[in-house]
Amino acid sequence: MSFGNKKTEIEGRELRYTAIKVRIYPTPEQAEIMEKTFDACRYIWNRMLTDQQEFYAATDKLFIPTPARYKKDAPFLKEADSQALVAVHQNIQKAFLDFFSDPKRYHHPSFKKKKDRICTYRTYCHHYHGKAPDSVRIEGNGIVLPKVKWVRAKLHRRPLHWWTLQYATVMKNAAGKYYCSLLYQYPAKQPEAKRPAPETTLGLKYSVSHFYVDSEGRAADPPRWMAEAQPKLDAMRQRLSRMVPGSNNYNKLLQRIRLLHEHIANQRLDYAHKESRRIANAWDAVCVRTDNLAEMSQRMKYGNVMDSGFGRFKYDLEYKLTRQGKQYISVDKATPTSQTCHRCGCVNTAMNRRNKRWTCPDCGAVLDREVNAAINIKNAGLAQLSA
Ligand SMILES: [Zn+2]
Repeated sequence: MSFGNKKTEIEGRELRYTAIKVRIYPTPEQAEIMEKTFDACRYIWNRMLTDQQEFYAATDKLFIPTPARYKKDAPFLKEADSQALVAVHQNIQKAFLDFFSDPKRYHHPSFKKKKDRICTYRTYCHHYHGKAPDSVRIEGNGIVLPKVKWVRAKLHRRPLHWWTLQYATVMKNAAGKYYCSLLYQYPAKQPEAKRPAPETTLGLKYSVSHFYVDSEGRAADPPRWMAEAQPKLDAMRQRLSRMVPGSNNYNKLLQRIRLLHEHIANQRLDYAHKESRRIANAWDAVCVRTDNLAEMSQRMKYGNVMDSGFGRFKYDLEYKLTRQGKQYISVDKATPTSQTCHRCGCVNTAMNRRNKRWTCPDCGAVLDREVNAAINIKNAGLAQLSA
C-alpha cells in the first residue's frame, strides 16, 4: 500500500471503488475492544503529530515513526487492532503531504480530542489467496474483523464475487450506534459512450423552493424533511436550553436531538440517491450549473441550500451517469441563464428576479423564470459538448 499515488488501473482497466456501509451489533466485550482501538488510534495520532512537529522544527523534514516505536512505552496499544495503528500512520503521512503540497487547501493536521463525538478506525484487509481466510471478511450474517472477531451485522447488500475488499472502517456515531463500512475495488466495465441528442438531454436548475426545476417544466418534490423536522428540532433545543446541563433529563433530550439529526441526514442521503438514480436511468445527458452553493446559502434568507443536499445530489447524479457511459455536463456559473429568453435569445435585464413569470419584450413569449433558466442550461450544455 502506497500513499500519494493511489493505483487507479489494472491491466489498462480503470479501477472503481464502492463502499457497503452496514450497521453492526457488537457484544459488550467486542464494543470494549473497539473502544480500545478508538482510544489507541487517537493516542498514537497525537503522539505522531507531536513527534513530527518536533522533528520538523529541528530538520525541516517530514518524518513520522512507525507504530512499533510507540508500543514499547504504551503497552495498551497491543490490545488494539494493530492494522488500525498502521492505518493511522498512513493517514497522518498523507495529511502532512497534502498540507505541504497545498497549505491553502488542506489544514495542518490537528490533535484529536477524547470528546470528539464520532469515533472511527480503519483496518486494512490482508488477502492470503486461499491459504488462509482474508483478515476482514463477510461471514454469514456478520463481519469478521481483526481482534474483534465475528460481529453481527445487518447486511442489506453483498459484494459481487470479483470485488476485492480493501479496508473496513469501524465507526461509532454520536448516538452510540456502530457501523462498518467496507471498501471494495473492482475493474470498471467500460460502458459504451452515448452521444446525447437534444431530446435525451435534461437541464436542471437549482431551486430553493422546489429543490430543482428541469427543462421539461417539471419540479422535484420539495424536500419537506427539513421543513418538517426543523420546528421539532428548534423546540427541542429550546427545552434543552432551560435544563440543567448534565442532568438526567438533559442527557436524555440531548440523545433524542442527536437521533433526530441522524434521521434528517439519512433521509437527505436517501432522497439524493433515489432522485439521481431515476434521472440517470431516464436521460442520456444532464446539464447542471456549477453554482457555488456555499455562497448562495449566505446570500439567501430562506431555505438553507446546504441543508437541502443539492451538492450531494449532483455528486450522485454525476457518477451514476458516467458509470452508464452517459454525460454529466457542468455548465459554468458565469453562463447567463436567467435573464435570457430561450426562444429568441433576447436578454431582459429589466426582469424582476422575484417574479415567477416574465414576458419576453422581443418575441412576447411568457416564460416561467426557473424553467426558462433550466432550458438555457440545457442548451448551453449541448453547445459545450459540440464545441
Ligand atoms: Zn424571446
